[in-house]
Parts: sequence; structure tokens; C-alpha cells
Amino acid sequence: MASKNLYIHFPFCRSRCAYCDFYSTVLSADWAQRYVKTLQEEILQRVSGAVQNVYLGGGTPSLMRDTDLYDLMATVRRASVLADDAEITIEANPDDIDEAWVSSILSAGFNRVSMGVQSFNDEVLQFVGRRHNAMSAERAVRTAKERVNNVSIDLIYGLPLQTVEDFRGDVLEAIELGVEHISAYALTYEEGTRLWHLREGKALTETSDDTEWRMYELLMDQLAQAGYEHYEISNFARPGYQARHNSGYWDGTHYIGVGAAAHSYDGVNRRWNVADIRAYIDSPGQPPFEGEQLSEQMRYEELLMTRLRTRKGLCLADVPEPFIAQLDKQKIPHLMAGNLIEEDGVLRLTRKGIFRSDDIIADLF
Ligand code: SF4
Repeated sequence: MASKNLYIHFPFCRSRCAYCDFYSTVLSADWAQRYVKTLQEEILQRVSGAVQNVYLGGGTPSLMRDTDLYDLMATVRRASVLADDAEITIEANPDDIDEAWVSSILSAGFNRVSMGVQSFNDEVLQFVGRRHNAMSAERAVRTAKERVNNVSIDLIYGLPLQTVEDFRGDVLEAIELGVEHISAYALTYEEGTRLWHLREGKALTETSDDTEWRMYELLMDQLAQAGYEHYEISNFARPGYQARHNSGYWDGTHYIGVGAAAHSYDGVNRRWNVADIRAYIDSPGQPPFEGEQLSEQMRYEELLMTRLRTRKGLCLADVPEPFIAQLDKQKIPHLMAGNLIEEDGVLRLTRKGIFRSDDIIADLF
């Protein structure tokens, strides 16, 4: 049986951040414990065979009790054959990290921490409703790095109040802390979030495209100078530290997602559990879900979209025969002339093209 990745969703947070539309709700200890038990039921029902990597995301999994983390990973090992070299990631909020927490995740089997730092600027962090401040974020990264040899942080650019120089400070701080991996995302105003309402009510000014481009350019320049590889639009890693679980999403690796709202993909079918904690807990091991079968056309479109996000690019030999004709090759010279893509048997976005990736991919369809 082909190896696959496992995603586990823990949909509880201490409080809600102003920009976030992930499926999560404010923590209730009682619900969280019942939820973790149900997760274990689902793992035993749905996960079997070889598992390559595990990712525990949320929400805020660093709010889980030590015993729950331990039991969850023991259940994964009982249900599957976990690869000896598996990358086993836990997402964490900087405020939850101390030496005791690091000990407990290591003994549960985690070997990678992905921390939602977002910014090292107190004013910006407070505005978007994060629990931590710059000092606690730095302390958390240093504490994790003392014993975990693969630490990733998330940054956001284009946040309200954030200047280009603020963001330069964030990137330099990340480099100085020596993290192995950095994910940096442009802020998006997701409908229904607190930031979206503020923007709709003209209570804040959105960062201009030009300013976001300057932030993104400095991100690419500073991280390249510091030896990080820019291997996907939003992801940078020291050599040997590309995120293996996330890379699976871009190279078509199959995955099983367990937990409320978690998605799964087996190469042909995609399914997603309902985004409803109560309904999830009420159906142990058999969560209600929806799904779809991907047509060849949908799989081709996904191939184009995901591969072009990566530095490896889209190898034209990988495009199935019926779709070669659909790839609008007449557009390629035009995009090349605009210095937006390069092509040598493999299509790749250029530095300039990366920032316009959505338009370019739409153009190529
Ligand atoms: S950004 Fe993270 S911590 Fe904040 S609400 Fe979303 S999932 Fe929770």
C-alpha cells in the first residue's frame, strides 16, 4: 500500500485572532477531552498501513494535555506503520511553550514544532488579537530550539499598522533566532473575520499591493542571503528542512485527515469531515463527511496550480496527454517576455511571477 501522510485537527483555541477563518472555537476543557477520545476512535477506524508523516494542526494543539498528546500518538502507532524517519509536527502558540511542554511533546514522539509567531511587533500582535508578545515569542523559539532540531515559525506581512521596516525586523529576528523553516503569508481579509469587518467599516487601511511587494521582496532577499531555500511561494527552509508533510500537498501525496473539518485525498477522491465539533463527537469513528470524486480535468488543474507554486515547477512531461493541448502554450512566450515564467521543459514562476501567481495560473488554463 502506498505511503500517505496523516493530518490531525484540534479545533480549539484560547481566543480567536482577528484575521483567522480556520475551523476552531474557544477552548472548553471538557469538550476538548471528549474530542480527543473521538479522534482516537476515528484514527483506529480510518488509518491503517504505512504512514510517512504526521501533522497535528489546529486550532491550537499546544493547548492539549500531555496525556492526550501521548495517547493520541500511541493510537497513531497502534493503527498504522509509522515510518522510522517520519516528520511529526505539532503546531504551537508561543505562549504555551516552556521546558515542560517541550519535554512532553518529545516524549509523545513529536520531532518538529511549527509556531504561529506572525510578528515580533507588540503593537501589531495586539491589534490582531494574538495572546503572545514579541518577548514571549522569542523566548518560546529559543526554548523549543534548545531540544527540538526542527523549528518552523509562521510570519504574516501586510498586517494593519505593520510597516516595511517592521516586517524587515521580523525577518531579521527569525534569522537571528536560527529557525530551520519559515512560512510567510500575505494577510488575506477572509469574509466574516474581525479584520474583514474593520476594513468593511473603513476602520482600517489595507496595505497597498506595492507595499506588500516590497515586503515580499525583502523577505526573499534577506532569507536567500541567510542561506534559506525558497522552495514554495510562501515557504523557506534551511537545506534539508523543507516541510515534508506540507510538501505532500504540492506533490500529490495522498493524505488522511482526521478530526472536525479535516480533509482527506486518495489520488481520486477528496473528502472532508463536517466542520461541527458536536456532530463529530456524536459519531465516534464514523464522522459525517462530504466528498467528491476528482475528474481528470480537476486533477490536471490541481497539478498545474500546486506544481507552479513550487520551485521545482511543473515538468511538462508530467502533464497528461489529453491536457497538453489545454495548456495554452501561446501564452507561454507572452509570459516569458513579461519575465513572469521561465521554461526549459519545466515551467517555473520567476521572482516577478511569484507575486502574480494566481493571475498567471488562471492565464494558463
Ligand atoms: S490564528 Fe491560530 S490561534 Fe488564532 S484563532 Fe486561528 S487557529 Fe486559533
